[in-house]
Amino acid sequence: MTGVTLRRPDLRWPIPAEISSLLPGQEIIGLRRRAKYLLVDTAPGSALLHLGMSGSLRVLPANTPATAHDHVDVALDSGKVLRFNDPRRFGCLLWQPAGSIHDLLRNLGPEPLSDDFSGDYLFDRSRGRSASIKTFLMDQSIVVGVGNIYVAESLFRAGIAPARQAGRVSRDRYGALAAAVRAILAHAIQRGGTTLRDFINPDGAPGYFEQELFVYGREDEACKRCGRALKGSRLGNRATAWCSHCQK
Ligand SMILES: [Zn+2]
Repeated sequence: MTGVTLRRPDLRWPIPAEISSLLPGQEIIGLRRRAKYLLVDTAPGSALLHLGMSGSLRVLPANTPATAHDHVDVALDSGKVLRFNDPRRFGCLLWQPAGSIHDLLRNLGPEPLSDDFSGDYLFDRSRGRSASIKTFLMDQSIVVGVGNIYVAESLFRAGIAPARQAGRVSRDRYGALAAAVRAILAHAIQRGGTTLRDFINPDGAPGYFEQELFVYGREDEACKRCGRALKGSRLGNRATAWCSHCQK
């Protein structure tokens, strides 16, 4: 990186001074993702990026004129520029010193496709919890990245009613649920590979076609497994649909 241009001092939060004082001259030694954060690793630390609702990152020729919402440019040794555009500014650009973990990342649960996420893990974490299993599964300190749509579909696939108390679900059923989460996310990622570019719905569910959903957004419609009308309610302040026959 040869230079950083900030066209405004803040996005969702102020951009820390380290971004412009420490990044120029550093080599990018790694690129990672944790939950919805992107980490650009350098020797003194990592730039931590979140794209928010509307942000995008593009690598462009250096002479590409900046437009209204192009807030940050990182000049690369290749002569190109890494440009962060974010019309709604819900995104952020923060700094994580080497050897430390930023507060935003500190209490996050495991990635759902990692080995740390399993039925046994969910079972152990859920003991003594009276919250609904849906609320439990959407808690970022339990597991990251399983949004409303994927929770609804996973619970249907595992046959678990969303309002069931998390602390009262058996180890075996958590095994089925962990497998369902993995299968559904893997499918969505595979789909996302072909549809992400032109389909991102407001719920942040790229990759899923409406006709593939069993319960999400289908309250009052017929269950695709048993034909009965799906139920709908709100749980954890989010719309929830499920089949009272197929999910117990
Ligand atoms: Zn059903």
